[in-house]
Amino acid sequence: MRLAVLKERRPAETRVAATPETVKKFIALGLTVAVESGAGLAAGIPDADYAAAGAEVAPDAAATLAGAGIVLKIRAPLGTGEGAVDELSLIPRGALLLGQLQATPEMAESYARLGIEAGAMELLPRITRAQSMDILSSQANLAGYRAVIEAAGAFTRGFPMLMTAAGTIPAANVFVMGAGVAGLQAIATARRLGGRVSATDVRPAAKEEIKSLGASFVGYEDEESKAAQTAGGYARQLSAEFYARQAEVIAAHIAKQDIVITTALVQGRKAPTLVTEAMVASMKPGSIIVDIAADAGGNVALTRPGEAVTTPNGVTILGYHNWPGRIGAAASALFARNLLTFLTTFWDKEAKAPKLPAEDDIVKGVLLTRGGAVIHPSLVPAKAA
Ligand code: NAD
Repeated sequence: MRLAVLKERRPAETRVAATPETVKKFIALGLTVAVESGAGLAAGIPDADYAAAGAEVAPDAAATLAGAGIVLKIRAPLGTGEGAVDELSLIPRGALLLGQLQATPEMAESYARLGIEAGAMELLPRITRAQSMDILSSQANLAGYRAVIEAAGAFTRGFPMLMTAAGTIPAANVFVMGAGVAGLQAIATARRLGGRVSATDVRPAAKEEIKSLGASFVGYEDEESKAAQTAGGYARQLSAEFYARQAEVIAAHIAKQDIVITTALVQGRKAPTLVTEAMVASMKPGSIIVDIAADAGGNVALTRPGEAVTTPNGVTILGYHNWPGRIGAAASALFARNLLTFLTTFWDKEAKAPKLPAEDDIVKGVLLTRGGAVIHPSLVPAKAA
C-alpha cells in the first residue's frame, strides 16, 4: 500500500505530516511512501532526506497521491477554488486521510462524497491510550513554549532579575491565563527564563498543577467552577456572572504584569474574552500580551487575529495564527509521531494495511466518514437536520 505525504499549501503553514524518521518506520511496516517535493522545506527537511529514508519524492500533488491508500496531512486538504491545486479531488476513493481535518458538517460531506475515509485527529478522545497520538496536546505544548519565547523577544527588558555593576533590572511579572497543555508549558518556560510567574484557570485540577510548577495561583473559585471540567478534560462554558467575578479578580492583577500569555479555550466555542480593553489600558507601556487563542477568536478584546498590534498606551499584543507553525521543525516531528502511533496502533500486520475497528473508542472519536457516508456521532444529527 502507498502512503502519500503532501506539501501543506495553506498560508503560513510550515509543518509537514511525516519526517524521515517516520517514513523509515512506515516502510518497515510494509508501506511504500511518496512525499511531495518541497513538503518538508519550511520545517528544515530537504527532499534528499526523505529520499535517503526510502521515500519516493514526487514532483506534484497529483503524482504523490496517485494510487495512495493512506494520505497524511497537517491541515485539511484544499478543495475546489481554495487554491491553485484541488487536493481533495486528487485523493483516491477509499483512501484513509489523517490530519487536523476541520470536522465541520460541510467538510465531512465532501469527504463522504469523494469516498475518502477521513480521520480528524483533533477529535481524538482524551484517554490514556490515546495520549501518544494526541496532536492537540503535542502542538499546544510547543505553542506554549513558543509564546513565551516570542514574548521574551518582543519585551525590551528581561525575564530574570539582572544584577549588574550598573544596577539591577527587576524580574518580569508573567501571568499565564489558562493552564492546560499550552499554559503549563508556558509557565514552565517562563520560570526557566527567570520570570516571576502566576497563572489562572477555571478547572479545579489546574490549580495544583500551577503550584506544582512553582507559579502562584490567581483566580476566582466558587461552586460553579468546582464543576468546570467536562468528562473529556476540557473546560465548560460558565455563566456570565462567573466570568464577571473572574474578571474582577484578574483586573487588579493584570495591571501589575509585564507579560500576559493567554491560552484559554472552551471546546467547540469561541475562546472566552478574559482580557478587556480596560485591562489592556491598565498595563504599563512596553508590556507584552501573547494571545495563543487568537485562532479561536482570541482571549483579548484587542487581539487582531494574525497580527501584532501596539495599543496607544504602548502594550504590544501578538495575536498570530498557528502558533505551532512558528516552531515548525519540532511541531512536525511531534505531529508526525502522533500519526505514526495512530497507524501502528491500528495496523493489520498480515494485510499490511490499516484496520480501524468501528467499536474502538479512538476510531469512533476520529473517523468522520466510511464507505461514502458521514458516520461521526457529532455530525450525523447535523446531517439529518
Ligand atoms: P484547552 O486547550 O481546551 O484549554 C486551555 C485551558 O484554558 C484549559 O486548561 C481550560 O481549563 C482553560 N480555560 C477555559 N476557560 C477559562 C477561563 N475562563 N479562565 C481561565 N482558563 C480557562 O485545554 P487543553 O490544554 O487541551 O487540556 C485541558 C486538560 O486536559 C488538561 O488538564 C490536560 O492535561 C488534559 N489532557 C488530558 C489528556 C489525556 O489523555 N488524559 C490529553 C490531553 C489533555
